Amino acid sequence: MNRPRPSFPARLDKTSSSSQAVNKQSVIEGMFHSQLPSPKVPTLSLGLGLGFQAVRQNMVRKLADDGIVDVRVLAAMGLVERHRFVDTALVNQAYEDTSLPIGLGQTISKPGVVSRMAELLLNGRPDKLGRVLEIGTGCGYQAAVLSLLATEVYSIERLRGLHDKARENLRTLRLPNVHLLFGDGMVGFPKGAPYAAIIAAAGGEAVPQAWIDQLAVGGRLVAPVMAGERAKQALMVIDKTPEGLRQMVLETVHFVPLKSGIA
Ligand code: SAH
Repeated sequence: MNRPRPSFPARLDKTSSSSQAVNKQSVIEGMFHSQLPSPKVPTLSLGLGLGFQAVRQNMVRKLADDGIVDVRVLAAMGLVERHRFVDTALVNQAYEDTSLPIGLGQTISKPGVVSRMAELLLNGRPDKLGRVLEIGTGCGYQAAVLSLLATEVYSIERLRGLHDKARENLRTLRLPNVHLLFGDGMVGFPKGAPYAAIIAAAGGEAVPQAWIDQLAVGGRLVAPVMAGERAKQALMVIDKTPEGLRQMVLETVHFVPLKSGIA
């Protein structure tokens, strides 16, 4: 029997079974087709009898099982080839839900966290996000994911070596709506403001005032911030409403530190 497919955009039931997750997958596969620069056929195998594409789809299914319900986020996670953003020696771990070193003491964020934060930014809205500011480009992976969910992505990195690496990694993907900036993200990027969404991939003591100032009214910021007496990082969500700021502190997370200045 054919299951009816949810029309796009759709939010699927949080308690979806894995068979629904598979169905979700078929929805996903059709969705971004027209937006892809060119479909990439994986040429490498992991030695597991599965190409990268199959391994990536497994990762997407796990993300859905772990509670990611926004099909646009799942689609983006299924399209961006994370193995292209890590060193050759680490490609066989690229689709595990783990952060991995990318050089200069920094890490590529876990797929679970990237998708969770993207889903929080979208917040169930039916349309794409407008301009998004990302603090901490790193290797450029999350910027690529965000490029499928937003009209424009401005991504700042304070380490020249990683800024250059991200540029290299993203070159072949040809994502015209991603703008890589080298600078101190603590001050945001006023030229692109106001932003519909701001996302930080590095955690500080508090959310810099500049980010709040550069957030549009109606916009949402998601950032790891030190919270609580035991100085643990937690995900903080700040909504800028016409009535003022609304703040939520969510689960514990582990991000590299937010540092000021460039290097
Ligand atoms: N977005 C990346 C994660 C990179 S890790 C991904 O796709 O996986 C976080 C990055 O934040 C590091 O590269 C670090 O150098 C950078 N960072 C830390 N403080 C920063 C600041 N003030 N401005 C810009 N980048 C910063």
